[in-house]
Amino acid sequence: MRYRLTSDPLFVHCCHCLNCQRQTGSAFVINLLIETDRVEWLADEPQPIDVPRDDGSSQRIFRCPSCQVAVYSHYGHPGVSFVRGGTLDQPSSVTPDVHIFTRSKLSWVALPESTPAFHVYYDSKKLWPAESLERLTAVIASPVSDR
Ligand SMILES: [Zn+2]
Repeated sequence: MRYRLTSDPLFVHCCHCLNCQRQTGSAFVINLLIETDRVEWLADEPQPIDVPRDDGSSQRIFRCPSCQVAVYSHYGHPGVSFVRGGTLDQPSSVTPDVHIFTRSKLSWVALPESTPAFHVYYDSKKLWPAESLERLTAVIASPVSDR
Protein backbone atom coordinates (compact mmCIF):
# COMPACT_ATOMS: atom_id res chain seq x y z
CA MET A 1 0.00 0.00 0.00
CA ARG A 2 0.93 3.63 -0.31
CA TYR A 3 -0.38 6.57 1.63
CA ARG A 4 -0.11 10.34 1.80
CA LEU A 5 -0.32 12.55 4.87
CA THR A 6 -2.39 15.59 3.95
CA SER A 7 -0.84 17.82 6.63
CA ASP A 8 1.98 17.99 9.12
CA PRO A 9 1.58 15.61 12.06
CA LEU A 10 0.22 16.78 15.41
CA PHE A 11 3.36 15.65 17.19
CA VAL A 12 6.12 13.09 16.71
CA HIS A 13 6.85 10.48 19.37
CA CYS A 14 9.93 8.37 19.75
CA CYS A 15 8.78 5.57 22.02
CA HIS A 16 11.25 3.38 23.88
CA CYS A 17 8.67 1.16 25.61
CA LEU A 18 8.95 -2.62 25.66
CA ASN A 19 5.85 -3.08 23.49
CA CYS A 20 7.34 -0.92 20.75
CA GLN A 21 10.70 -2.65 21.05
CA ARG A 22 9.02 -6.04 20.64
CA GLN A 23 6.74 -4.98 17.80
CA THR A 24 9.54 -3.41 15.79
CA GLY A 25 12.23 -5.86 16.83
CA SER A 26 14.35 -2.80 17.42
CA ALA A 27 15.30 -0.14 19.96
CA PHE A 28 12.32 2.23 19.58
CA VAL A 29 9.56 3.31 17.24
CA ILE A 30 8.97 6.68 15.56
CA ASN A 31 5.27 7.55 15.51
CA LEU A 32 3.77 10.52 13.71
CA LEU A 33 0.52 11.35 15.47
CA ILE A 34 -2.01 12.62 12.95
CA GLU A 35 -5.75 12.71 12.44
CA THR A 36 -6.92 9.45 10.85
CA ASP A 37 -8.78 11.36 8.13
CA ARG A 38 -5.51 13.02 7.14
CA VAL A 39 -3.99 9.66 6.17
CA GLU A 40 -4.99 9.16 2.56
CA TRP A 41 -4.66 5.66 1.12
CA LEU A 42 -3.40 5.70 -2.44
CA ALA A 43 -3.44 1.99 -3.20
CA ASP A 44 -4.80 -0.98 -1.25
CA GLU A 45 -6.55 -0.81 2.09
CA PRO A 46 -4.50 -1.54 5.18
CA GLN A 47 -5.35 -4.65 7.11
CA PRO A 48 -6.26 -4.16 10.80
CA ILE A 49 -4.73 -6.66 13.25
CA ASP A 50 -5.38 -6.52 17.00
CA VAL A 51 -2.15 -7.13 18.87
CA PRO A 52 -2.05 -7.82 22.63
CA ARG A 53 -0.07 -5.50 24.86
CA ASP A 54 1.65 -6.11 28.19
CA ASP A 55 -1.08 -4.36 30.16
CA GLY A 56 -3.76 -6.72 28.82
CA SER A 57 -5.21 -4.17 26.42
CA SER A 58 -4.91 -4.52 22.69
CA GLN A 59 -3.60 -2.26 20.01
CA ARG A 60 -4.90 -2.17 16.45
CA ILE A 61 -2.05 -2.26 13.98
CA PHE A 62 -2.76 -1.58 10.31
CA ARG A 63 -0.53 -3.53 7.98
CA CYS A 64 0.12 -3.47 4.28
CA PRO A 65 -1.87 -6.44 2.90
CA SER A 66 0.91 -7.57 0.59
CA CYS A 67 4.12 -7.15 2.61
CA GLN A 68 2.59 -7.06 6.14
CA VAL A 69 4.70 -4.10 7.19
CA ALA A 70 3.04 -2.20 10.04
CA VAL A 71 2.11 1.21 8.70
CA TYR A 72 0.14 2.74 11.54
CA SER A 73 -1.63 1.99 14.81
CA HIS A 74 -4.54 3.15 16.88
CA TYR A 75 -4.04 3.53 20.61
CA GLY A 76 -7.31 4.31 22.29
CA HIS A 77 -8.96 6.95 20.12
CA PRO A 78 -9.34 5.78 16.49
CA GLY A 79 -9.51 9.40 15.31
CA VAL A 80 -5.75 9.69 15.81
CA SER A 81 -3.38 7.44 13.90
CA PHE A 82 0.19 6.74 14.89
CA VAL A 83 2.02 6.48 11.57
CA ARG A 84 5.35 4.70 11.69
CA GLY A 85 8.07 7.07 10.59
CA GLY A 86 10.11 4.35 8.93
CA THR A 87 7.34 3.79 6.36
CA LEU A 88 7.64 7.32 4.94
CA ASP A 89 9.33 7.72 1.58
CA GLN A 90 11.80 9.94 3.43
CA PRO A 91 12.09 8.83 7.05
CA SER A 92 14.73 11.53 7.56
CA SER A 93 12.07 14.21 7.05
CA VAL A 94 10.84 13.88 10.63
CA THR A 95 12.59 14.17 13.96
CA PRO A 96 11.02 13.29 17.31
CA ASP A 97 9.34 16.09 19.27
CA VAL A 98 9.52 13.98 22.42
CA HIS A 99 11.10 10.77 23.71
CA ILE A 100 8.82 8.66 25.91
CA PHE A 101 9.20 5.56 28.07
CA THR A 102 12.90 6.23 28.43
CA ARG A 103 12.80 3.96 31.52
CA SER A 104 13.24 1.07 29.08
CA LYS A 105 15.51 2.92 26.64
CA LEU A 106 18.47 0.81 25.62
CA SER A 107 21.60 2.12 27.31
CA TRP A 108 23.52 2.62 24.07
CA VAL A 109 20.87 4.95 22.63
CA ALA A 110 21.99 8.53 23.29
CA LEU A 111 19.28 11.20 23.20
CA PRO A 112 19.82 14.83 22.21
CA GLU A 113 19.50 17.17 25.20
CA SER A 114 17.40 19.59 23.15
CA THR A 115 14.46 17.16 22.86
CA PRO A 116 12.19 16.60 25.89
CA ALA A 117 12.41 13.07 27.28
CA PHE A 118 10.17 11.36 29.83
CA HIS A 119 10.61 8.32 32.01
CA VAL A 120 7.06 7.24 31.11
CA TYR A 121 4.56 9.62 29.49
CA TYR A 122 3.92 13.37 29.47
CA ASP A 123 1.18 15.98 29.51
CA SER A 124 0.42 16.92 25.90
CA LYS A 125 -1.15 20.19 27.08
CA LYS A 126 2.27 21.32 28.26
CA LEU A 127 4.23 20.22 25.23
CA TRP A 128 2.15 20.36 22.06
CA PRO A 129 1.88 23.54 19.98
CA ALA A 130 -1.45 25.34 20.43
CA GLU A 131 -2.50 24.49 16.89
CA SER A 132 -2.02 20.77 17.48
CA LEU A 133 -4.03 20.92 20.71
CA GLU A 134 -6.86 22.63 18.81
CA ARG A 135 -6.75 19.93 16.14
CA LEU A 136 -6.85 17.23 18.83
CA THR A 137 -9.85 18.83 20.50
CA ALA A 138 -11.63 18.80 17.13
CA VAL A 139 -10.87 15.08 16.64
CA ILE A 140 -12.21 14.13 20.05
CA ALA A 141 -15.37 16.19 19.48
CA SER A 142 -16.21 14.65 16.11
CA PRO A 143 -17.66 11.19 15.45
CA VAL A 144 -15.15 8.73 14.04
CA SER A 145 -15.30 5.69 11.85
CA ASP A 146 -12.88 3.02 13.00
CA ARG A 147 -11.10 2.41 9.77
ZN1 LIG B 1 5.80 2.40 22.89
